[in-house]
Amino acid sequence: MNITRSEALFVAARQVIPGGVNSPVRAFRSVGGVPRFIAAGQGPLVWDVDGNRYIDYVLSWGPLILGHAHPDVVAALQDAARRGTSFGAPTALEVELAQTVIELMPGIEMIRFVNSGTEATMSALRLARAYTGRDKIVKFSGCYHGHADMLLVQAGSGVATLGLPDSPGVPRATAGDTLIAPYNDLEAVRALFAAYPDQIAAVIVEPIAANIGFVLPAPGFLAGLQALCRQAGALFILDEVMTGFRAALGGCQALWRLDPDLTCLGKVIGGGLPVGAYAGKRQIMEQVAPAGPMYQAGTLSGNPLAMTAGLVTLRALRSRYGEGSLFDHIVASTARLVAGIEAAAAAHGLPIQVGHVGTMFGFYFLNESGAVITDYASARAHADTARYGRFFHAMLARGVYFAPSQFEAAFVSSAHGEAEIAATLEAAHEVFGQLA
Ligand SMILES: *Cc1c(COP(=O)(O)O)cnc(C)c1O
Repeated sequence: MNITRSEALFVAARQVIPGGVNSPVRAFRSVGGVPRFIAAGQGPLVWDVDGNRYIDYVLSWGPLILGHAHPDVVAALQDAARRGTSFGAPTALEVELAQTVIELMPGIEMIRFVNSGTEATMSALRLARAYTGRDKIVKFSGCYHGHADMLLVQAGSGVATLGLPDSPGVPRATAGDTLIAPYNDLEAVRALFAAYPDQIAAVIVEPIAANIGFVLPAPGFLAGLQALCRQAGALFILDEVMTGFRAALGGCQALWRLDPDLTCLGKVIGGGLPVGAYAGKRQIMEQVAPAGPMYQAGTLSGNPLAMTAGLVTLRALRSRYGEGSLFDHIVASTARLVAGIEAAAAAHGLPIQVGHVGTMFGFYFLNESGAVITDYASARAHADTARYGRFFHAMLARGVYFAPSQFEAAFVSSAHGEAEIAATLEAAHEVFGQLA
């Protein structure tokens, strides 16, 4: 595979951008080698600057649920851009996207749009602190909620991949108000509530721990958290930045009948443009300025391009496709792909742990057959990252692009058809054979 242009660009990039990338995991540090510089994407495919073609399961880390450059999204964006890209004044599009999200997600009565998932979680926590008058928050080790100071503690994914336990630059006082519990450990949370009575403003959790790979919540874990929060007068915050419109159209809260006080959104809600949102119960959201005293603002928040891409994407997902919706169709494609990966691994006696919900999935290569990954500690102990690195490069050589880290989830789009799934499974069979 010729990658000379990517190599040259990576050299140039490292001179002018830290590590050559604008987000760490893109640099391939955990799998080694040279990141591919992407020239174009269309449907399920991307092409790098050397003309190599890949079936893409990263999809910009989740947002592109209709695939790259979907014609409806592109046409709507061109149309919107001709009328002006941002006004810093309210538009009808914001109202329409807000109404659409509220229709889809049972826990949401009001919503505020921001520009990234990071802004969404940061603002939701400020709101939780404002609403409760308390300072401490609880998060789970390995859960990633963006890079705001108080959340950059045992934060999984890029941080895990780089082996940085925490980031320098986060003040000790800020991190000190962040309490940590292991994922899936309700008793640990109960103990924190007992140790810090009336001090915990909120518990924030990824309903699927998908920034340490793909860890499902144990039965009763999320409902148990919700109950503990209610008892203690703390807010229950679901970070559905990744799972919203992915795990199910209404997110994990619809799928598992949860009733979060606040929800964080991002990724799919922007249809490939930068958007985030925090949302929840009216009584809490009305504390946000200018309805209430908690300040939060944004020059480009709710801009017409981002709102348009989100609206067109959500509308397409709800549209009819065969017996069900287009979303249902992507869920079925995901299930077929995941079943094929499991079968291929079993055929070669390769121990893997596979998970999937809706249109997202992930799998670990286990360093011990029989090992079970349920949290960050077991992921670090039992995920065979070296084997994942070999898998990643062998798949890349066969034209299949998975995330360049064992600790990331994978995504399917409506553009991934039978042909792409068959080609992916054929490549996986070959590669699993080599790895076994
Ligand atoms: C991606 C992600 C974020 C951060 O979103 P950005 O848009 O990258 O700032 C927050 N929470 C979760 C669960 C995510 O997956």
